[in-house]
Formats: sequence, C-alpha cells, structure tokens
Amino acid sequence: MEESLRPSSSSRDVWEMGGERDRFSSSGDVFYGLNNTRVKAVGGTTLKWLGISPRFHEKDFEMETRYGLASDWPISYDDLRQYYVMAEREMGVSGTDDNPFAPPRETEYPMPAFPPSYSDSLFADACEELGITMHSVPQARNSEAYDGRSECLSFSSCIPVCPSRAKYSADVHVAKATSEGARVIDRAPVQRLEHDREGRSVEAAVYATPDGIRHRQTADTFVLAAGAVEIPRLLLLSDSPTYPDGLANSSGLVGEYFMDHPIVSITARLDEPTNQEPIGYHTSETHQFYDHEELRPGSVKMVFNNENPLNPASIAMRGGDAGTREDLSDVLTGDSWGDQTLEQMRADSPNRRISMFGNPEMLPRTANTVTLDRSKTDDHGNPVPDVSYNLGAHEKATMEYIREIQHDVMAELDAEILHESSLSDPRIASHKMGTTRMGTDPETSVVDPNLQTHDLENLYITSGSVFVTGGAMNPTLTIAALALKTAHHIHESRKFAN
Ligand SMILES: Cc1cc2nc3c(=O)[nH]c(=O)nc-3n(C[C@H](O)[C@H](O)[C@H](O)COP(=O)(O)OP(=O)(O)OC[C@H]3O[C@@H](n4cnc5c(N)ncnc54)[C@H](O)[C@@H]3O)c2cc1C
Ligand code: SF4
Repeated sequence: MEESLRPSSSSRDVWEMGGERDRFSSSGDVFYGLNNTRVKAVGGTTLKWLGISPRFHEKDFEMETRYGLASDWPISYDDLRQYYVMAEREMGVSGTDDNPFAPPRETEYPMPAFPPSYSDSLFADACEELGITMHSVPQARNSEAYDGRSECLSFSSCIPVCPSRAKYSADVHVAKATSEGARVIDRAPVQRLEHDREGRSVEAAVYATPDGIRHRQTADTFVLAAGAVEIPRLLLLSDSPTYPDGLANSSGLVGEYFMDHPIVSITARLDEPTNQEPIGYHTSETHQFYDHEELRPGSVKMVFNNENPLNPASIAMRGGDAGTREDLSDVLTGDSWGDQTLEQMRADSPNRRISMFGNPEMLPRTANTVTLDRSKTDDHGNPVPDVSYNLGAHEKATMEYIREIQHDVMAELDAEILHESSLSDPRIASHKMGTTRMGTDPETSVVDPNLQTHDLENLYITSGSVFVTGGAMNPTLTIAALALKTAHHIHESRKFAN
C-alpha cells in the first residue's frame, strides 16, 4: 500500500517482484505483460483482483451445439449450480436479483448489492433512451460485515490491495485450512512433478526453498492450482523418458488454447460535473448483449465505470508538486488544508469525466499458447514461460461491436470523447484460461469433467486452465465452483477407497 502511494510508483507495480524469478516472454501479436496479471504469493492473484464475481451463462458451456464454434464443455451450467451457490457463500458475494439477463439462480446472494453510484445515474438516463437495461454487479466484496471480515470502508484501493479485508482474497481460505491442520509451505515453488515407474500416478512434487535446497514431497493425491500459465509450464518442465513431451500431455494440448479477455474502453467529458466520489470498483453493468442469437458478434460484458481521476486523496499523497496535476497546482502549493483544500479542489477542477469498458467473448484458438522459452531461465535455472496471445476474427468483431455501443451511449450523453483504447493492441483483463482444457476424450483434452488428468490417476487441476471456452464473464467464481466440485469428487472417492 505504501509503495502504491509513492509518487514514483504506480498501483501496477506493487505486486511486481521482478528479477529472474518472474522472467517471461511474450511472442504473440499483442504483448502479454504476464507479471501485471498475477501475484505469486499466499492468496495468489486474488490479493490484487477487483472481485467482480458473475456466473458464466448457460450458453458459455454450449458454444459448439448452439453456434458451431469451438467445443462444448463436458459439463453444463446445471452441473455447476450447487457449486456456484457454495462459492458465492464461501467468498462472500454481494448482489441482488435485478439482472434480467442473468442465468437462473436458486438462492439470494449472501449479502445485498452495493447501490448504484452517482455517475451510474447519468448513464441510466442515456441508457433508458437507448433501451439498454443497467443492473447491479455481483462482487466478492462485503456490503456488510461478513465471515469475520469488515464491510467495505471505501478506501478505493481494491486494486492493488484492500486494507480492510472487505474484498475477498484466497488467503482467507488458506487461514481456514491452516486452522484445520493444513501446513502451508510458502516461498517454495514446485520445480517438477515425478511419477511412478509405470507412469500412472504422480509420486512426488519437488520444490525449492529460498536457501536453494530442494525437497521432495510425496502424497496420495496432487492438486495443481497455480494458474493457467504456471500449470502448463510445470507440466512441460516435468518431462521424463516415459513422457518426453511433458506430464499429462499425451494429447499434446498442454499449453494450447490460452485465453484472456481484451478490454475495450472509452473515456469522455461531460458538460456537467459528475462529482463522482472515488469508490474503487464499479456498481453497474449491462449483460443485455451477452446471450447472442447470431454467430457474431459474440457475448459482451459492458461496465459503467465510477471514473474519478481527480481523487484528492491520491493526488495529495502523490505529492503537491505543480507537475502532478497542472490544473490543481494553485491548490496543492497553497496554504489551505483538510476540508478547505477538498472543497477548493472540487470547485476549481470538478470531475467531468465518465468512462465505460467492455469485455468480448474469447474463444480458444491454436495460435494462443503457453510454451517454454528455452533461451531464458528463471532463478532456479528453469526455462521461462512464453505466452503467445493473438486476437481472432471473433474477438475482433465483438470488440468493434462494443465500441459501437459505447459510442451510442456517449453520443446520447452528448459527451466529448477524450480517449479510446486500441482495438488492435488492447490491455488485457488478466483472466487466464485454457491451456489444460477439460473434456471426455483423452485425445482432445487434458483433464476429465472431475478435473482429473486423463494420464495420471492421482493428479487434478483446479484453475481457469481447464476452461474449454472463455465466455465474456470474469472467471474466478467459476474457477472456485469447479474447485469445489473437484474437492467433493476427491472426498467421495477417498471415502469409497477407505
Ligand atoms: C488486476 C486484476 C484484476 C482482476 N479482477 C478480477 C475480477 O474482478 N473478477 C475475476 O473473476 N477475476 C479477476 N482477476 C483474475 C483473478 O485474479 C484470477 O482469475 C484468479 O486469481 C485465479 O485464481 P487461481 O487460484 O487460479 O490463480 P492465482 O490466483 O494466480 O494463484 C496461483 C498461485 O499459485 C502459486 N504458484 C505459481 N507457480 C507455482 C509453483 N510452481 N509452485 C507452487 N506454487 C505456485 C502462486 O504463487 C499463486 O499463489 C483479476 C486479475 C488481476 C490481475
Ligand atoms: S473500496 Fe476499500 S474497503 Fe472497499 S473493497 Fe475496495 S479497498 Fe476494500
């Protein structure tokens, strides 16, 4: 937190450890800045995530049947429903049933939704004219005290980190597991997995501690949960004479079909002040453009942002130098303090900005891969991951459609467009998916519907890496639901075995 507030820093740098440990390559048309998309720590990338937690829609599981695109998942939305309920309860999701486009639900959300913001009300007028329905956003953020954690206190720093713990992060469950007797060995990346003589099961995970010593951990069951880049990397690093192409890779598909959602954003200026207070997260979306009839454009998730670039607290913390914000230099170099400064800032430079962003549906393509770059090594001498990320015709057409909708809304608002993101070189949402896809056929998939690898009977993968298609929704709730389904399966099989 302290680092993120420093004038020389940006919130993107906070979790960037840098150095050899995190070396990577990016070889696709679109640069994939891997280190900004992940956190290697206890709690993982949810320490940094925004917490938006929608379910996937029914159609996301049936892309081949409905549109002849990609492949169907081997499970349906109905197979995941009970686990979605558990995931929402465990993570603590705030939401309400005001979204007419959402898939069917069985229970209320664990907490009420956050109310719409002031700038949402400006968007609402324009959207009503255009026939666009806005609704609340399910998020793993406490709208009231929940599970021993605080309600949201509006620090507005959800990314890079929530200081009040109102935003869920996975270290919550690490602490629960530890209190039940689990042992966490941190700062100890697994270097490779070793299998038994027949190559039917994994025998040990070899990990290295910071002193450079390697340890060998044996177990009955292994579950990989290291994200959709480090999982295929670890499997490829675990090659052996029995499996020269890497572990669990008899299909040759480990590392194939990488997916992540590109972001299409637009910022504009209104005539009237929005005076939007900084919140840290958005409070309205529309999923009206999600369940498409035609093949293209694909699904769209559209966000109405709570834009506040003139957040007085962060400007003040970043230093009162005239160069920080030219238009506020009088205030920041003057003698006033506290509420007086705040009022002066608002009067001198009212926030008139407004912004939207959207994610298009992402489909699996063979051009998008995670492979080993053998020309570079990490601090343990292992080849680094190379991410090849490219946009296909489906994503491109859907991104253009998002831009059209954004233009319609901004035109209705009479807003002057200040900035539009690049459609050919977009920022990426950090929703890593694909790379060890799920299926029933061992020739065309890496794990089965229980997320057990086809090749090794005691190896499971719980990650966005098992997704068959990427939809346009944020993936983490679905990752958690799948993980709970697999945990249930492992529990039941062990009971049976005993
Ligand atoms: C800025 C940002 C905003 C986001 N916002 C959202 C959002 O609003 N909604 C949403 O759904 N998703 C969001 N995401 C994505 C979300 O964070 C991920 O989907 C989620 O964290 C994935 O969980 P995971 O457990 O699969 O992987 P991770 O959270 O990445 O965890 C992987 C863990 O594995 C560990 N690990 C890696 N390699 C090894 C190894 N060799 N040995 C041992 N351990 C290893 C890492 O240290 C880490 O702890 C966001 C991501 C970012 C970066
Ligand atoms: S607004 Fe503040 S308290 Fe609320 S989740 Fe974000 S960082 Fe945490």
